[in-house]
Amino acid sequence: MILKNYHTHTPRCHHAVGSERMYIEAAIAKGFQTLGFSDHVPWPFKDGFVSKIRMGMEDLDDYFDTLLRLREEYKDRIEILIGFEAEYFPSMFEELMGVLRNYPLDYLILGQHNVRDEAEGFYAGAPTEDPQRLIDYVDVTIEGIRTGVFSYVAHPDLIRFDYRGREELYRQEMGRLCVAAKECGIPLEVNFYGYTTKRNYPCGEFFRLASSLGSSFILGCDAHQPWLLAQPEEVSGLEEFLKRNQISYSQELELRKPV
Ligand SMILES: [Zn+2]
Ligand SMILES: [Zn+2]
Repeated sequence: MILKNYHTHTPRCHHAVGSERMYIEAAIAKGFQTLGFSDHVPWPFKDGFVSKIRMGMEDLDDYFDTLLRLREEYKDRIEILIGFEAEYFPSMFEELMGVLRNYPLDYLILGQHNVRDEAEGFYAGAPTEDPQRLIDYVDVTIEGIRTGVFSYVAHPDLIRFDYRGREELYRQEMGRLCVAAKECGIPLEVNFYGYTTKRNYPCGEFFRLASSLGSSFILGCDAHQPWLLAQPEEVSGLEEFLKRNQISYSQELELRKPV
């Protein structure tokens, strides 16, 4: 049983459902003592680009107001933390940090969904056989880790590189990511949402490698629906997956000062 989950979304990202209250009630019912919201961060895109998978800058006030109100209302029943899941997009990073400095933000987790950024570049979860994409994904994720603002790496194995027959290259590159996270003292996430929706992550090959390199691990529900706030034993097959890949985890997370 886990008591803390730091990876929870809200409908502001346009691909999650259920009110904040529903997520909180579900977490209490499942025995969680800490619930961290980490919706997809808004980026200050240029040239009128509008993302369909994240809140807009105009939603920031309401995100914090709503969660601060609920934190107060539920303070005797559960601890509510306010965070974001953010990529590291170098061209807009300083600007984003400047905006976030105005809010009572508890933490950031690094979820590198795109390489370069969402308007230009590629989606890391798209199937690819291109070694350069793997290398670019690892490079930018390491840069993100080294900013020191992220408390953990969400689905580090998001990159959907077809490694069959090229396991050595995959291990060499992803090994760099594991070492960087270890050097910065931050854990790698085993993602429930990817597991339940049968995505390419969490990837056994990756976690066996990370285990052998001495990485530390954390479980993240990545709840896009309230029912996904589940205990690991409720996610069919997950405990076997953890065992098979020598994943020993801890939900005790040291929160980094985010901005
Ligand atoms: Zn999402
Ligand atoms: Zn994500």
